[in-house]
Amino acid sequence: MSSMDFVKDIDGYQDVAKEIEVLRNYARDYSYVGRNVKRTIGMLHPRRLSLRVSEIREETSSTKTLRLVSISSNGYLPPFQAGQYINVFVDISGVRTSRPYSISSSPSQRGYYDITVRKVEDGFVSSYLLEEVKVGQVLETTAPAGNFYYNPLFHGDDLVFLAGGSGITPFMSMIREVTDKGLDRKMHLVYGSQWEDDVIFQDELEDRALHHGNFKYSLVLSSPPDGYTGLKGFITAELLEQVLGNMYDKMFYICGPKPMYAYCVKELEKLGIPSRKVRMEISGPPKDVTLEPGWPQDLDKSTVFKVEIRGGKTIDALAGEPLMVSLERAGIVVEAMCRSGECSMCRTKLLKGKVFQPQGVRLRKSDRDFGYIHPCVAYPIQDLEIMI
Ligand SMILES: Cc1cc2nc3c(=O)[nH]c(=O)nc-3n(C[C@H](O)[C@H](O)[C@H](O)COP(=O)(O)OP(=O)(O)OC[C@H]3O[C@@H](n4cnc5c(N)ncnc54)[C@H](O)[C@@H]3O)c2cc1C
Repeated sequence: MSSMDFVKDIDGYQDVAKEIEVLRNYARDYSYVGRNVKRTIGMLHPRRLSLRVSEIREETSSTKTLRLVSISSNGYLPPFQAGQYINVFVDISGVRTSRPYSISSSPSQRGYYDITVRKVEDGFVSSYLLEEVKVGQVLETTAPAGNFYYNPLFHGDDLVFLAGGSGITPFMSMIREVTDKGLDRKMHLVYGSQWEDDVIFQDELEDRALHHGNFKYSLVLSSPPDGYTGLKGFITAELLEQVLGNMYDKMFYICGPKPMYAYCVKELEKLGIPSRKVRMEISGPPKDVTLEPGWPQDLDKSTVFKVEIRGGKTIDALAGEPLMVSLERAGIVVEAMCRSGECSMCRTKLLKGKVFQPQGVRLRKSDRDFGYIHPCVAYPIQDLEIMI
């Protein structure tokens, strides 16, 4: 008797064996498809892309659009969903780091990805992209990723986009796609900006609203010039009621600076919008982690902790900086995509010590349960030992 004969006594074995026999005789052989799967996945989700800056366009005094094209001879770029981002890698003063940027061009333009970068005060990467990068330079990026896109099964066809500052970029991609393709979807963009002359894509937005009945555009200025007759202030419940009218069956999307999220969510609650009707883009690490709820009050952000990397070196890490930044400063590059705690690419095992992870970071339950941290949004509050 063979050692495998016992399987015949397992409940259901005979049924499964019979089914396999039937499939062998009558089903189509798909093994040839299997051979192509790896190649197809590689085309759709390559780990890295090398993209040449083909054009740089000034949008406002603080913002530029970089057009990125493939360096491969066939010009191929993986497809994406309007609203997704790419993570752009850069080497600055000997530090290799990355930042995600939403693609602002339409997914129907298959020849390029546009990213639109706004200057951030003392920004490490934004300053480099805006001031140092030249046409012709090749940048390494991830493939498009992210979950902030339209889902026809759940989002209906009446969409409201609440944008602030550079948070316009994923919406621009969506608006361009819908209006260029003539898709049957209503969109109302409520765009908050501080200054009138810093509104990104202003002419194009006005033009598209003028020529497409399914796209409405409301600009709201928080520091309007004297005599300004348009909408003023912030995106409040009253303002939304005024410009949107009926709230029934609308899906709200929010993208902008971090403080805008909590603010807008409260205003939408006042209007009785259920949370399942509100979608928010991820927004990177907080500007000042010590202001986050739960931060240990007696811990100064300039405190330096030791982080031992199992099988590697021990580095210094500032309490007030994401662990990923400290690792990058020490020349250790952890795979990264969203740098916001969502994508799980950088998941790292915490073997010893404690980190602070701000509320609202979207860690997977399994990562929490098994002691994994996401160094992009984890801050050391003790000496640590980690395994990358
Ligand atoms: C999904 C997503 C989409 C986004 N899309 C856009 C977009 O379309 N347009 C846009 O403008 N922005 C976008 N952003 C924001 C963007 O990713 C950057 O956060 C933004 O450009 C600011 O980056 P920065 O490096 O200039 O500034 P910061 O990240 O604030 O730079 C300061 C950081 O750099 C670190 N740092 C400073 N010096 C060093 C050093 N020597 N070595 C290593 N680190 C150092 C600091 O500790 C600090 O953490 C998006 C963010 C997300 C999450």
